[in-house]
Amino acid sequence: MTKIQSTGLAMLQQRCPRCHEGHLFTHSAANPIHFAEMPERCPVCAQAYEPEPGFYWGAMFISYAFSTAIMLVTGFLVYFLLHDPAVWVYVTSVAVVAVLLTPLSLRYSRTLMLYWFGGVRYEPRNALKAG
Ligand SMILES: [Zn+2]
Repeated sequence: MTKIQSTGLAMLQQRCPRCHEGHLFTHSAANPIHFAEMPERCPVCAQAYEPEPGFYWGAMFISYAFSTAIMLVTGFLVYFLLHDPAVWVYVTSVAVVAVLLTPLSLRYSRTLMLYWFGGVRYEPRNALKAG
C-alpha cells in the first residue's frame, strides 16, 4: 500500500487516520451491497476503526449535510442547465442523484467522523514498525 503524507489526501482516499496506508473500507464504493463494510482494525497498523460502540451514529449528521448539499447543487444545476423545467424533473433528478451518491456520502461521512472525532493522529513511525 502506498503511503500518503497529507492528511487531506488520506481522507479523500479513505485511508487509516493513523498510518495513512490501510484502507478504511473493504470493498469499492461501486459495490452495491458491501460498500459500507469496514474491517475492525487497520490491516497495516492495527488501529481500531470503531473507537467505541455506536461511534458512527454521529456520521448520520455529516451524511445529512452531504445529502442537503447534493440536493441543493443538483437542484441549481437542473435550474440553470435545463432552464427551469417542470417540478417532476427537479424531483426525479434530485432523487436519482441522491440515491446514486449515497455510497459516497456514507463513506465520506464515516471517514470525516473518524478523522475529526476518533482521537487519532497521524503517526508515520507506527506504520514503519508494523511494516
Ligand atoms: Zn493504519
